[in-house]
Amino acid sequence: MKEILLAKYGEIILKGGNRPRFESMLMNNIANSIKKVADVKARLMQATIYVDVLEEEKTDLVMERLAKVFGIVSVTRAAVCEKDIEDIKRVAKEYLAPDLEAASSFKVEAKRSDKLFPMNSMEISKEVGGFLDDEFPHIKADMHHPERTVRVEVRDFAAYVYCMENKIKGQGGMPIGSGSKATLLLSGGIDSPVAGHMIAKRGVEIDAVNFFSFPYTSERAKEKVIELASIIAQYTSKINLYVVPFTEIQLAIRDNCPEEHMTLIMRRFMMRISERLARKHKSKALITGESVGQVASQTLAALDVTNAVVDMPILQPLIGMDKIEVVDRARELGTFETSILPYEDCCTVFTPKHPTVNPKRENIEKSESRLDVEKLIEEALAGVELIEVYPQ
Ligand code: ATP
Ligand code: MG
Repeated sequence: MKEILLAKYGEIILKGGNRPRFESMLMNNIANSIKKVADVKARLMQATIYVDVLEEEKTDLVMERLAKVFGIVSVTRAAVCEKDIEDIKRVAKEYLAPDLEAASSFKVEAKRSDKLFPMNSMEISKEVGGFLDDEFPHIKADMHHPERTVRVEVRDFAAYVYCMENKIKGQGGMPIGSGSKATLLLSGGIDSPVAGHMIAKRGVEIDAVNFFSFPYTSERAKEKVIELASIIAQYTSKINLYVVPFTEIQLAIRDNCPEEHMTLIMRRFMMRISERLARKHKSKALITGESVGQVASQTLAALDVTNAVVDMPILQPLIGMDKIEVVDRARELGTFETSILPYEDCCTVFTPKHPTVNPKRENIEKSESRLDVEKLIEEALAGVELIEVYPQ
């Protein structure tokens, strides 16, 4: 008996004339995400991707990867049958035996996209349902709350049977590449990886920037950021991570500006430098992980001060989320355990005791005017290190 993976995609179906373009992006992304994991043959037909895993023992791993490719809404294993009702019954009995033996009720749902098949969906469901009912006497048909739903799909070249309960959920979203590129300000914290993932899910390619304050933050802190990027890369494929030396800027702020304005001035430098990098690398927006009111630097007044220095869209997808919701997402995404490793972030090293919570642009600008902003930015940009991060 031959087994295959069926992956279904979601929103692309609504894309009208652009659909073939999105479909080919999706197929490319699938190939990229699987090529290092296993040898497969994948083809797309009738809004379904058929993945034949040539090394059977790697099927679970391939499923896991497919479920991380944006655009895909579900993945399931299915048995391949000839387009013949007797073969469908035979395969269903053998392939679904473990599922049906473990359950006490079931139903069959058939779908016929090949209209030349001599039976319609209702007739297929009845025939296969009646047969399984006889073959597995302990199990009852239940149309409303079955423990197992057996799915039969009669398609162009073959028919497929599987059990709906074995289907795993995909990420949904749009294929990466369909939505140009944005630059994620990636710290070692919980929030920014989640923010990056949320925007990437809409088809946006991601570059990342990290501000790094050696020796105040250790090499381990940098490794942590690389690890976070490599987890996000499982969803997006390779990420270019730009590491910006930030120590000189932080020391200049500490030595010249009022302590209570330190965090905001620092944040303004991060935004400016990120914008320059974004423009240089053809990125169309910045992404940050703020949520209103989470800390002093995330009040609306503080966000106004921080965002004022940038002239490109700033995407803040967590802006209305509670910390608990963000933590849940970080767990699902797989970044949480890394984010909570106890290495210092550059912001925590230089934290004022009493940060301003209701800052005004004029006051911050005045404090900042004691610095040679342009020179500090240029020096930092001259020291940028590019790290190409591959999926973990
Ligand atoms: P996170 O959990 O993402 O670190 P946070 O709640 O600690 O967020 P802040 O420290 O105020 O928030 O930072 C706000 C945002 O600024 C972060 O979500 C991130 O996008 C960006 N950011 C902060 N520190 C850095 C850094 N060292 N490098 C790059 N971006 C940073
Ligand atoms: Mg942080």
